[in-house]
Amino acid sequence: MFKKILIANRGEIAMRIIRCCREMGIRSVLACSQEDLNAMPAQFANEIVCIGPAPAGQSYLNQNALVQAARSYGCEAIHPGYGFLSENAEFARLCEEAGVKFIGPSSRLISLMGDKQSARALMQKKGVPVVPGSDGILESAAQARKIARKIGYPVLLKASAGGGGRGMRIARNEAEVEKAFSEASAEAKAAFGDGSMYLEKLIHDPRHIEVQIIGDEYGHIVQLGERDCSMQRRNQKLLEEAPAPGLTRSQRGAIQAAALKAAKAAGYYSAGTVEFVMDQNGKFYFIEMNTRMQVEHCVTEMTTGIDLMQEQIQVADGRALSFKQSDVKVNGHAIECRINAEDPERAFAPCPGNVDFIHMPGGMGVRCESAMYSGAFVSPYYDSLIAKVIVHAPTRLRALRKMRAALEETTVDGIKTNLNFLYLMMFSPGFVTGRYDTSYLAKYSEAVLKWDRDSRKKVKRGD
Ligand code: ADP
Repeated sequence: MFKKILIANRGEIAMRIIRCCREMGIRSVLACSQEDLNAMPAQFANEIVCIGPAPAGQSYLNQNALVQAARSYGCEAIHPGYGFLSENAEFARLCEEAGVKFIGPSSRLISLMGDKQSARALMQKKGVPVVPGSDGILESAAQARKIARKIGYPVLLKASAGGGGRGMRIARNEAEVEKAFSEASAEAKAAFGDGSMYLEKLIHDPRHIEVQIIGDEYGHIVQLGERDCSMQRRNQKLLEEAPAPGLTRSQRGAIQAAALKAAKAAGYYSAGTVEFVMDQNGKFYFIEMNTRMQVEHCVTEMTTGIDLMQEQIQVADGRALSFKQSDVKVNGHAIECRINAEDPERAFAPCPGNVDFIHMPGGMGVRCESAMYSGAFVSPYYDSLIAKVIVHAPTRLRALRKMRAALEETTVDGIKTNLNFLYLMMFSPGFVTGRYDTSYLAKYSEAVLKWDRDSRKKVKRGD
């Protein structure tokens, strides 16, 4: 087994990896920015190496500095976490060339699946349903219009290299295609260096359902059930749950089988996620594959009892998966809430600053993943996710009640967070009944915020 791993990430996911290494008897070296030298992961890693100043471009995205650090600290592998360089094929290749194991799939697999259009083409060839749209890369807005006329509006113009909601625009009619095409393409070119575009029909208010998979280098590949991630704001997930509520047994089976087929078609190994949108008739379509460990992996760990992080590290070390498909049993229900340092009253703008006091919940079936403590600093340079609260219970209703209780107990003082907003979502009719789609949060958030505002006014007045 690896003796030493370099962690090329920060915050809660760095803590998750450090804890996992400790449990496995692996030494951890944290590569962090100057800004994070006093953060919690730097206190817990066995060694730390400063790889540059605060801006991610000069530290967490500095590929050569990271590989250099791994080599000079005697690390056999690099764990990229999520975000930053976790899905960067060039970085994976750099690691391969330097003889440092990238904990994830090969650079070839990242390129194949990370390019959305090539992944889509592969799925189509292998019989995995994809959203109706273009075949191959679009040459021009005129070609996009021609295809859109055939499949019908509205359509989504998507950048092949896009991610995190960037490089994606809706065109509701012919007149909007030109602008959507050039805007999305320019955005992707600026962010990812590649402005290639393709087109998909816009599925009306779909659900986002994804399947966790993991495989080893010996051709064993398993799926660990699906998650519902439809609670999104501007394509950013806010809470996730597993299993996806309300699916029939055959829908569930079909989506899981499709994900497995997708992963097998790619010859995939390591941890990954196959993402689908499901329309209002229950038909589902492949949209993309994420070739990394995701933020929401804990939800699946809770329902299956399988430590995905540990398996991912073992598989990277050339070992076989420690379990088979028949060993995977989904038990009960899990929900995850993402606590962000942001102000719901100001369009969820990030709210960095000092955390004067923080208390995270506990108890049976409650798990917290965070790098926060009383006195910690939330840096303005990075993502606003400060903690994940995950609950697990025998039924969905009990998990929901447990989450309400857990959020009631959670306290974060000093900075603004979406904690109240999340708590109130736990009472929203769509979430309570499990009938929500990707449009729900946008439609419901104003009502939730008003509810919160009014109740605070009443408290002030003493009603
Ligand atoms: P990204 O890589 O930027 O996250 P995705 O392709 O995963 O982009 O899509 C992000 C979100 O956009 C999905 O979760 C879904 O809500 C929405 N979406 C993507 N494709 C479609 C589609 N064809 N129709 C409707 N919504 C879509």
